Amino acid sequence: MTLNFSYQPHSTRVVFAPGASAGVAKWVEALGCRRALVLTTPQQAADGEALAQRLGGLAAGTFAGATMHTPIDVTERALARAAELEADCVVSLGGGSTTGLGKAMAYRTDIPQVVVPTTYAGSEVTPILGQTEGGIKTTVLSPKIVPEVVIYDPELTLGLPVHMSVTSGLNAIAHAAEGLYANDRNPITTMMAVEGMRAICAALPVIVKTPRDADARAKALYGAWLCGTVLGQTTMSLHHKICHTLGGSFDTPHAETHAVMLPHTIGFNAAAVPELLAPIGDIFGGTPGRALYDFAKSVGSPLALRDFGLTETDLDRAAEIATRNPYANPRPFDVKSIRALLQKAWSGERPP
Ligand code: NAD
Repeated sequence: MTLNFSYQPHSTRVVFAPGASAGVAKWVEALGCRRALVLTTPQQAADGEALAQRLGGLAAGTFAGATMHTPIDVTERALARAAELEADCVVSLGGGSTTGLGKAMAYRTDIPQVVVPTTYAGSEVTPILGQTEGGIKTTVLSPKIVPEVVIYDPELTLGLPVHMSVTSGLNAIAHAAEGLYANDRNPITTMMAVEGMRAICAALPVIVKTPRDADARAKALYGAWLCGTVLGQTTMSLHHKICHTLGGSFDTPHAETHAVMLPHTIGFNAAAVPELLAPIGDIFGGTPGRALYDFAKSVGSPLALRDFGLTETDLDRAAEIATRNPYANPRPFDVKSIRALLQKAWSGERPP
């Protein structure tokens, strides 16, 4: 093995403990801030209000308008609210959508972010921001986007519905799986990818049976942190590109799309780099694509794109969009091979 790599960790403070979210105030103060704006989705508004109550005098107010794909008009409204309240930091409480809103605000104003994740999406540890305007989703990368503090409190995930836990967990596994063959991977990202997948593989079956199992919840969130860190430190390939296309152009649900596509994209790439994807076979048992499919099925994941209302005609356009611009992938592909792969994912076939 030739060791030849570059390694650039991000400077985020990561705090992980059951009950850690009780210490948000301490971290707001540690950043030198006095007026936090608490961000949530409308669905988590009550949790945001409760957090603001606990922050007491350190809370400037709340904004409960975060939504999927970070629309620019929502960011503008949140920035106006921050200005009106003279907020000097944001506390983002929620999944990737809420984290995305805080990152979009930081990208524009450099406002410090404390993120308290409640799903396994992993956005909190990446310098990546995806945002939409007029139905077009674009991605930007900047050190300004990286949150200053991330507080992982597994107790906040005890109530994450089982279906979302499963699809969000598979979303996290997708980051690690593509990290295994990324051109800019390094020994640390590979270690994190393997450890992250192992943790989520152990946790999800327990969560499905006993959703409030504290150990399994902690293990899943720990795995999500590791897998998200891999996403933030490596460049993703075919799998993320296809999911980005399906979500961005056909409005398919984010985590579910990752869950359905993962066995197919990894099965496709395993033909080119079996040795790099071997850890997946070791962890999940079997050839990579099939092992991920069987695991997804065993934890009750959706398995077919057609269940999201996609038509076979949509697949033609998706294959064309996903192959329009070149990007690195271990196995060469063209419109025809991607169209065939999408067909299998559409009908929910078990990969070879
Ligand atoms: P989400 O944040 O949209 O959450 C889905 C729903 O679940 C929301 O209504 C949310 O309020 C609710 N929810 C979250 N946690 C909950 C909990 N513990 N209990 C009950 N309800 C809860 O979903 P997501 O999958 O976490 O994030 C998806 C978004 O994140 C997408 O827009 C995606 O593009 C983005 N993302 C970005 C990156 C990145 O690095 N930029 C990485 C991963 C995901």
